[in-house]
Amino acid sequence: MNSEENKISRRMVIGGLGAGIATMALAPVVGYSKSTLGQMGILPVEDPRMKYPKPPFKEQKQPWPGLVSKMDPRPDHGETSYKGSGRLVGRKALITGGDSGMGRAAAIAYAREGADVAINYLPAEESDAKEVIDLIKKEGRKAVAIPGDLRNEDFCKQLVEDAVTGLGGLDILVNNAGRQQTRPSITDISSEDFDATMKTNIYAPFWITKAALTHLLPGSVIISTTSVQATDPSADLFDYAQTKAANTSFVRSLAKQLGPKGIRVNGVAPGPIWTALQVSGGATMDKLVNFGGDTPLARPGQPAELASIYVQLAANDASYATGQIYGAAGGGGQP
Ligand code: NAD
Ligand code: MG
Repeated sequence: MNSEENKISRRMVIGGLGAGIATMALAPVVGYSKSTLGQMGILPVEDPRMKYPKPPFKEQKQPWPGLVSKMDPRPDHGETSYKGSGRLVGRKALITGGDSGMGRAAAIAYAREGADVAINYLPAEESDAKEVIDLIKKEGRKAVAIPGDLRNEDFCKQLVEDAVTGLGGLDILVNNAGRQQTRPSITDISSEDFDATMKTNIYAPFWITKAALTHLLPGSVIISTTSVQATDPSADLFDYAQTKAANTSFVRSLAKQLGPKGIRVNGVAPGPIWTALQVSGGATMDKLVNFGGDTPLARPGQPAELASIYVQLAANDASYATGQIYGAAGGGGQP
């Protein structure tokens, strides 16, 4: 026990505080388990280096778009850990790519903060999506599942209409779905490939946002998932990195258009995060095995570690944040 802690606990005892409170003050230094501390309402200090799995990871490959349920280790999206505190009560959110990764983490967190949530995903991801829908329902919130391919403009328009109908309105739009496929050279990228990345990452947010605007009242928010690739592009992500730069410019330009209408637009720029996108063609096997090892925290991030950023950007108390990109990259890259 250091002298400051000693002083505090002595003062509490001398001051005649109850034994329970005195014990709580001492708890971190007398080695209670994490769950016991949790029951006592104490959040122990967590070392960010030790919190989650580190490389080397097992070699693994899934067909695109990949499933959370087949990843090893399974990513943490906050399924058992995220605790809400009423920050988004009554809000209505549409999240693309809400079945897995950052989208799933945001969906779980939003529901636990009191929001009704619609998620979009590809039909092949139905089993992942069902897990998220069940978790949203468990919070007593409305959960709307809207499968479909965002590369289709008509579907994007329909998605917004179905979300508005299912939720009874819309005030949070999270443009999060993304396509990332590693290619060693520009000459390995076919026009179909390039087109699929552009359609998913640039056209879809454009189509969806345009359709959503007719429903968004002042106080609504738009959040885009961009990337450190926007500012520090990898050689093997030539097409993808361009789309992420576009996502960042989307945020900065649209925030200027929509600020006068009372709608905030912000972005989240993740670094290497352990998600299905990476194991389904997003990364080379070598990068995957060493994933996140070159960051100062020496590990990849987990989607759960970004959930609070999506909540913060959506919440009313972030009312002066617009046109901003919030990063979470383990110390590498800049938003
Ligand atoms: P993820 O695979 O879990 O989520 C991406 C989702 O995009 C998929 O679940 C899928 O539902 C959706 N999607 C892709 N193509 C689609 C299409 N044509 N139609 C409908 N949905 C489609 O992976 P993630 O890493 O959580 O990705 C979420 C966002 O995070 C993406 O925009 C990605 O670019 C971004 N990002 C990821 C990382 C990372 O290291 N994982 C880093 C920076 C940015
Ligand atoms: Mg998925």
